[in-house]
Amino acid sequence: MALPWRDYKGYLMERYGRPVYRIGLDGGFSCPNRDSARQGGCIYCDARGSSAVYQRQDESAYRRGSSFVQDIDASIPRVSFRSIAERKTSLSRQIERGIAFLDSRYPASARSIYFQAYTGTYDDPEVLRELYRHALDSGNYEELIVSTRCDCLPDETIDVLTSFQDRVRTVWVELGLQSGNDETLRWIGRGHTVQCFLDACTRLHAAHLPICAHVILGFPHEDDAAVLRTAEVIARSGVQALKIHNLHVVAGTRLCEHYLREGFEVSDMQRHLHECELLLRHIPAEVVIQRFLSDTPSHRLAAPRDFGDKNTFLALLRERMEQAGTRQGDLR
Ligand code: SF4
Repeated sequence: MALPWRDYKGYLMERYGRPVYRIGLDGGFSCPNRDSARQGGCIYCDARGSSAVYQRQDESAYRRGSSFVQDIDASIPRVSFRSIAERKTSLSRQIERGIAFLDSRYPASARSIYFQAYTGTYDDPEVLRELYRHALDSGNYEELIVSTRCDCLPDETIDVLTSFQDRVRTVWVELGLQSGNDETLRWIGRGHTVQCFLDACTRLHAAHLPICAHVILGFPHEDDAAVLRTAEVIARSGVQALKIHNLHVVAGTRLCEHYLREGFEVSDMQRHLHECELLLRHIPAEVVIQRFLSDTPSHRLAAPRDFGDKNTFLALLRERMEQAGTRQGDLR
């Protein structure tokens, strides 16, 4: 029986006829929201900018499943690339590592290039062009996926992205919204508004670049009404895909300092099941749901520590929605 939401694996099979996996890359970008003029990044950002787990060789001393290591970030500095040549060399190494990892797990699959870490458009447009081209020249890829912020998409950058539409089947832009509530965006230090996100979506739609929005559920002060406002923004934005994250309190973040100092209730599986169902029911049925949960290595995760695994969560969400007869988009 079909899932009560539009699932990502099914979308990839429909579009490409086989599984497609991403090679997650760090292109050596920074992030405008971590610049000194601002307040040091989003409250939950751990200065790693969401790099792929298999690319973090500096963490090999720590195993998944070990206990929380509060000061790990002090021992793992951000690599700073000095030149385009060095960034390209680094990209080549990361792609080799990514291919080796994917070959060992999913040998018959297709691949996509995913500029995942930090703000993947935060550079001069010609530098972006060179880095994207360098990555795509390394093989055959179905998609180019670039993760960025709504305040980092000038027209010249959008032109660079569209220029790759004849190199791959799809060029995606992943765009962080995180919450449809400006009050929450201020609290987490996002450095942009809901309107900025909506404006960027309008410009990306005009360039025929599909968008995957990211949202976080489980902020301490957000209730059902706040989740509904986020759902409304997602619906209004016209994005084609969505990644849902449950709030993680990660070592080395301002959120972690706040949590260790004052404590707050961190969303558990029951709350996340409820909020995911609520959100799904209020967004369009055609939005592809690319993920439901955050993924943080256990040794860096302060909370939640006993959430349960992804398969259990997905099985429970499916069971809950099937039993209630609910579906994505049924309350729109
Ligand atoms: S936009 Fe991303 S990389 Fe930048 S501060 Fe926020 S979480 Fe970190």
